[in-house]
Amino acid sequence: MRDLEAPRTRRGRVEDHCCIDASVLRKSGKLELGASGVWSWSRGTSIVGAVNLAVNADAIDIDGYVATSTGIVPVQEMILIARVPARFANRPCGRGSGGVSTFLLCPGCGSRRRKLYIVAARCRCRGCHRLGFAVETKSSADRAFHKAAKARAKLGAAPGPACRVPQRYVPSVPRRGGRGAGRRKYGHLVRQIAEADRAALRGIMAAADRLASSM
Ligand SMILES: [Zn+2]
Repeated sequence: MRDLEAPRTRRGRVEDHCCIDASVLRKSGKLELGASGVWSWSRGTSIVGAVNLAVNADAIDIDGYVATSTGIVPVQEMILIARVPARFANRPCGRGSGGVSTFLLCPGCGSRRRKLYIVAARCRCRGCHRLGFAVETKSSADRAFHKAAKARAKLGAAPGPACRVPQRYVPSVPRRGGRGAGRRKYGHLVRQIAEADRAALRGIMAAADRLASSM
């Protein structure tokens, strides 16, 4: 259970911890039955953790170490693997019939997760470790800028609020769906950019008001 009274600054960030990512492991063949190998993490040029992975029928054995602020701690954990039929596997854009999704079961709460994080020698989900994302520690104006920049990037525009958003791209050879295909998505992104730009400005105005009234 989360303690809502705890100060926000004490909340760690997922970006700062070693992550066991089921999707990455599966793609690199390290989640297949009988697979074993070493997985390591680095920050800059230094290695901050290394573990041995050994996969048996329905679990993965993790054995190694990670560096923390207080020193190097050993990590030893057995994590159950859940292989379930993929959602939407049979849809035209799905993964094909028989598609399987691979999850890790968090040893703390038992929930199915793609990613588990190693904090203080324990491998748990971000809920159990109370980890947030780096973007959550930003101000509302920063987050709005971030959101606008992401939507701008999808339309091939530069990230700045004053940068021009290009017209909707219509290829000379019509795509499936005809010349109107993508119009709704384009409109949605443009509205999203405008709304995020306004939110960013409101955030800046509020911050300026607070600054002025603090004098
Ligand atoms: Zn958990």
